[in-house]
Amino acid sequence: MKKEILIATHNAHKKEEIQQILGENFTVTSLTDYDIHDEIVEDGDTFHANALIKAQYCFNKTGKPSLGDDSGLVVESLDGRPGIYSARYAGNHDFAKNMAKVLEEMKDQKNRKAYFVTVMCLVDETGTNYFEGRVYGNLTKEVRGEKGFGYDPIFIPDNYEITFAEMKAEDKNKISHRKKAIEQFLEFIK
Ligand code: IMP
Repeated sequence: MKKEILIATHNAHKKEEIQQILGENFTVTSLTDYDIHDEIVEDGDTFHANALIKAQYCFNKTGKPSLGDDSGLVVESLDGRPGIYSARYAGNHDFAKNMAKVLEEMKDQKNRKAYFVTVMCLVDETGTNYFEGRVYGNLTKEVRGEKGFGYDPIFIPDNYEITFAEMKAEDKNKISHRKKAIEQFLEFIK
């Protein structure tokens, strides 16, 4: 029998991406499939806490194995900011404002090291498990590139000279934090 995994998202793209990676032995569902439209309040103070909040919420509602995730940009010389506040650092999901704030705070900084991280949390009847992926790199001094989303135009991954926003999506997706976290999850679930 196929195993169902409920993803704590309304994002059809996220659901589809995980379905493709897991393959046909799994049925990937989302909140939309369960007609759950409540806003899950992510008030944890770590990526792990927020991923758990989402997964636990879905598991409590449905009893199905549930996967929550939380991602963000962590900048070394900003003491880890924007971190869990990445989506709303300067303006809610306003990517341009959020990048501008980071660049402004980094104006005089020589150390431009940063990483993207994704933490995934699986809650099922056996308990709670976490999976984490990171991609390390450096921040630019200006916005570069049009592709991607979020902080992609100011992040150059290690061993590259172009930003995530200048890369083809398929190239970014091979090395991304999200990809690495999903791989760990896949290893565990199979
Ligand atoms: P989420 O937890 O996946 O929704 O990510 C939270 C925020 O982190 C996003 O709104 C982006 O600002 C930032 N972020 C996460 N992943 C990426 C990425 O791959 N590129 C750029 N920004 C990202």
